Amino acid sequence: MISSKLPNVGTTIFTTMSQLAAQTGALNLSQGFPDFNGPQGLLEAVGRHIAQGHNQYAPMTGLQSLREQVAAKIARSYGVAIDPDSEVTITPGATEAIFCAVQAVVQAGDEVIVFDPCYDSYEPSVELAGGRCVHVQLSADGFAIDWQKLSDAISDRTRLIILNSPHNPSGALISRADLDRLAALIGERDIYLISDEVYEHLIFDGVQHASVLAHEQLLRRAFVVSSFGKTYHVTGWKTGYVVAPPGLTLELRKVHQYVNFCGVTPLQWALADYMASNPEHVEELPTFYQAKRDLFCDLLAPSRFTFTRTPGTYFQLVDYGQIRPDLNDVEMSLWLTREHGVATIPVSVFYQNPIAEQRLVRLCFAKREDTLRAAAQKLAAI
Ligand code: PMP
Ligand code: GLN
Repeated sequence: MISSKLPNVGTTIFTTMSQLAAQTGALNLSQGFPDFNGPQGLLEAVGRHIAQGHNQYAPMTGLQSLREQVAAKIARSYGVAIDPDSEVTITPGATEAIFCAVQAVVQAGDEVIVFDPCYDSYEPSVELAGGRCVHVQLSADGFAIDWQKLSDAISDRTRLIILNSPHNPSGALISRADLDRLAALIGERDIYLISDEVYEHLIFDGVQHASVLAHEQLLRRAFVVSSFGKTYHVTGWKTGYVVAPPGLTLELRKVHQYVNFCGVTPLQWALADYMASNPEHVEELPTFYQAKRDLFCDLLAPSRFTFTRTPGTYFQLVDYGQIRPDLNDVEMSLWLTREHGVATIPVSVFYQNPIAEQRLVRLCFAKREDTLRAAAQKLAAI
């Protein structure tokens, strides 16, 4: 019998629900990925670079030109000067960046504070480093940080806090005032931060993203993670990056070079080209996704689901308490998939201690208009 290092880990809800959607032929609004292609120019650039022979290992740190484009984008978006050589690392997906950052700073016996509902990759990464997650619940209405609970959770063993804004699954945003408050709370303690900002460009209603990159005090102790997969509609490319001060970057790269060594070469060339020639892409994303959110929400408005429009990400939470209050959210997700042909993600799986009375499922609206219309029609008919 193998003694598992991750005894509590099974197959992720994303795999489970996507498989069920495929088996049943349901519209898949569960796992977060677009059902449309990334920009044509970006796709063509990959073919061009493969044909040109860019098919061998990329530098361990990531292609120089892509790191420079990341730094240029950060300067444009947040007005911050980041050194592409000593502070930017390209990784095979944000997941790997998070894993490496955790391994770089968490030692056996350390505590890591995460906020519930919490993205599923954080806790296993912490456990493999020999650390332990301390779960702090976000408020049930609005998914805001409960500062008293956070303050109570910090101990002498706290080594790392993992933030996620825009937040998966709720879409909630951390404000600049929240970051200031966090900085004051951490003070001079020996605590690091991972700021998971993979949805940094998916923010709606004219709100600006409060990035840790633009917070001098926090950035000194932070790994800020993003994903080209989300920003360029190519989640299957599994290409992301992490920005951290030189000392933290050095430690992160020690791990990264033995987890993967480097990311996929032609994808990095293509992204560098596309970012250089299409800097407007990221500025257009809020409008692009807000139109999808609003179409979907307008279509769902007459349904018996209740919701407030998500402020960020490509996920919309909906409350089904008026429809099947007798079902918990896992049962509801299965029922919606099997009986009504729409696959969703239950929110309780993101909690250490699920809230018994919560009746929420997550819907991904990174979909073509015809998919959103078809899904909304099915949901509104229930
Ligand atoms: N963090 C969050 C909050 C996510 O939703 C995702 C997306 N799947 C990731 C990290 C991982 O991103 P990637 O696919 O680039 O590894
Ligand atoms: N981040 C994606 C989501 O929240 C899932 C990615 C995965 O399947 N690992 O749906």
